[in-house]
Amino acid sequence: DVVTRFAPSPTGFLHIGGARTALFNWLYARGRGGRFLLRIEDTDRARSTTAATDAILKGLAWLGLDHDGEVVSQAARAERHAEVAREMLARGHAYKCFSTQEEIEAFRENARAEGRSTLFRSPWRDADPATHPDAPYVIRLRAPQDGETVIADAVQGDVRIGNDQLDDMVLLRSDGTPVYMLAVVVDDHDMGVTHVIRGDDHLNNAARQMQIYRAMDWPVPVYAHIPLIHGPDGKKLSKRHGAVGLEEYQVMGYPAAGMRNYLARLGWSHGDDEVFSDEQAQDWFDLDGIGRSPARLDFKKLDNISGQHIAIMPDAALLHEIEAFLDAAGRAPLSDAQRDALARALFCLKDRAKTIPELLEKAHFALATGPVEPDEKAAKALDPVSRRILSELTPQLQNASWSRNDLEAVANAVAEANGVKFGKLAGPMRAALAGRTVTPSVFDMMLVLGRDESVARLDRAAR
Ligand code: GLU
Repeated sequence: DVVTRFAPSPTGFLHIGGARTALFNWLYARGRGGRFLLRIEDTDRARSTTAATDAILKGLAWLGLDHDGEVVSQAARAERHAEVAREMLARGHAYKCFSTQEEIEAFRENARAEGRSTLFRSPWRDADPATHPDAPYVIRLRAPQDGETVIADAVQGDVRIGNDQLDDMVLLRSDGTPVYMLAVVVDDHDMGVTHVIRGDDHLNNAARQMQIYRAMDWPVPVYAHIPLIHGPDGKKLSKRHGAVGLEEYQVMGYPAAGMRNYLARLGWSHGDDEVFSDEQAQDWFDLDGIGRSPARLDFKKLDNISGQHIAIMPDAALLHEIEAFLDAAGRAPLSDAQRDALARALFCLKDRAKTIPELLEKAHFALATGPVEPDEKAAKALDPVSRRILSELTPQLQNASWSRNDLEAVANAVAEANGVKFGKLAGPMRAALAGRTVTPSVFDMMLVLGRDESVARLDRAAR
């Protein structure tokens, strides 16, 4: 059974690259009936904060990446990590090293002076335990010194590292605390992780981690090291490219469904498919489809995918996304009346909005509470001639059946009677109904608002 995990270090916000790593792991597990686990790598006590952990959990929840089981704290498992180090010691796969920092420094300096490799080779590797002093020691891995370690990476192919390039890494420090590399392996093993999908900045760690698996005789997981995300200019992603934290995308008003789709396409592809559902993504996602070169952020593509998701999303889901957005952006929540009005208006708002704030801007006519005040552009559209025509329109509307056909017929007839095209009347009607110039069609708005409210707004603007 497939088990994947996301293992962020809680030292800041949830980076867009981290969110994509989490998504890939989630898709891989969900598409195979497997489990997706979450482990917080909080062993760096100085840099880890609970605020950062909360931000990560919040970000994953917003993105809809549900994990299985409890959240695992790596720091809480330190005793288990130390136990494994002692087990390796007992089995002879590790040894006690009494070299002091000064001795190690001296070794390196000598090696440098003599032009040899500066990789530390501990004199204690083969020392007789009878000669061990009563002094502090670290536990080092007895790593193979010849041959090579091959990472059969599902994305990068076979990555070979000569074992003479790796020293006997420390597993347990002299104060008894485990090192990060050991913690990762023990946790992944104990959690039953079968596939490790993560950024390729961890590729070098994989060789060392494999040495620990080998020493413990544990099965090595499938590795998939994915290229990092780059900015639109092809350079390493940084703040100057724009938003790098997932939360910023929520505040900009991208719906989570669109964000999942966009992030899935960032470094992974399935033929020419650009817009897809979660079910499709889970079905299709495979390690084969992950590219070997860094994906570039493309904000136009994000807008496009986001807009298409807004257009096809079921109304209830869209309303939920809108309310989550208002909360995240620190904007006023919807009143019950506004939620109802918005629900009735969604059909004419969904089609052309790339983001939720764009949709809300067009929804102004439905959300406005109290009389609608025209903005500057709308006020210009309500010139005296237009107002006079509007005043002829309202009595006709009083008697019209409230169907689209009838409304169109009435508006066209009034325009014709005044010697203008309907297009000339549409601007003032928008201004009257919405107080804005960018709105859904006037007929859609009238259908949403109903007769009384529509006539009241048109009347008020005509005066
Ligand atoms: N904690 C590591 C990070 O945040 C990830 C380690 C891993 O996935 O093995 O980059």
